[in-house]
Amino acid sequence: MLATGFLVLAVLTVRQVVPGRGDVHEIAGHALGTTYSVKLAEPLSSSRGAAVATAIEGRLDEVDELMSTYRPDSELSRFNRHRSTRPYPLSAPTLEVFAVAQDVFERSGGAFDVTVGSLVDAWGFGPGDRSSRPSTPEVAALRSRAGSEPLALDREAGTIRKLAPDVVADLSAVAKGYAVDLVAETLVALGVSSFLVEIGGELRARGWKADGSRWRVGIERPEPAERTVHLALDLADEAIATSGDYRNFREQDGVRLAHIIDPRSGRPVPYAGASVSVVHARAAVADAWATALSVLGPEAGSAVAEREGLAALFILPGSGGYVTRATSAFRAKLGAGTLIER
Ligand code: AMP
Ligand code: MG
Repeated sequence: MLATGFLVLAVLTVRQVVPGRGDVHEIAGHALGTTYSVKLAEPLSSSRGAAVATAIEGRLDEVDELMSTYRPDSELSRFNRHRSTRPYPLSAPTLEVFAVAQDVFERSGGAFDVTVGSLVDAWGFGPGDRSSRPSTPEVAALRSRAGSEPLALDREAGTIRKLAPDVVADLSAVAKGYAVDLVAETLVALGVSSFLVEIGGELRARGWKADGSRWRVGIERPEPAERTVHLALDLADEAIATSGDYRNFREQDGVRLAHIIDPRSGRPVPYAGASVSVVHARAAVADAWATALSVLGPEAGSAVAEREGLAALFILPGSGGYVTRATSAFRAKLGAGTLIER
């Protein structure tokens, strides 16, 4: 198993029967500690299929080699072992992911914070196999290492600097989305005009299928044990990412602990059996925001998402079922007739 943060399968594609003209081809496999699927709506010779699959695997391997917290030799792990405040040179992709993270950190008031790495480990969601709960003093000590902008990026120089030497970064909440973007860009470069890329529940679509329809995805109900589609959504040339506590949690002393840490308390966000999905042009940005809004919760999260003009949808347990809470940008998609609520 690789990163727990890579294991949530929050969105599943609705199976479509594509009539007559043209086929949907799927390339699927395992990467980044989860599964991936790439659907292409175009005729595909076996040699072109093999070339496209090789290109996809190359990009996924690249992200794993750079950003996995589970590989001691990844660029991120090496940076985490660099216990110094001297600037550290990073590859362009990792720098880009840190830049997205920094932006969402600032806009979310610190709810999204990749420096929660040590806390993720302490609560048993990291590469270590820790099973005991951290003590209050330990949480306080680890929390003092996170937050308050402890990383400084210099994009011109291609470096990042720790403002405290023992900062440990965890990019799991944004790297999968970034990998989706990389695969999508690779497909465009290869001349593929219609596709749906999915890695561990984060998706990005482009184009139309042969019957003139958009790629339709299903947003699941946040039920731990079941997989029921709550909403179906037609994606234009855009991405959707979902975060929640409902699938990736652990029980400790009878208490459900979510894998998402609130950087303000240093503790897992209270279990709510809820999810939040964000639609954005870039999957990396959608991924980071979905995690940030999970930390903030439906009340504060909706307000921040509205202020930021984000298309966000919360699904929460309500009386006898589920209730949804959508920002106006998300409701605009509903107005366009692309959203079907069940
Ligand atoms: P996601 O499934 O995209 O919501 O990412 C969750 C993963 O991100 C967790 O498993 C942690 O590795 C990491 N993480 C937890 N809390 C935060 C946070 N507040 N900000 C950024 N990353 C986090
Ligand atoms: Mg995320």
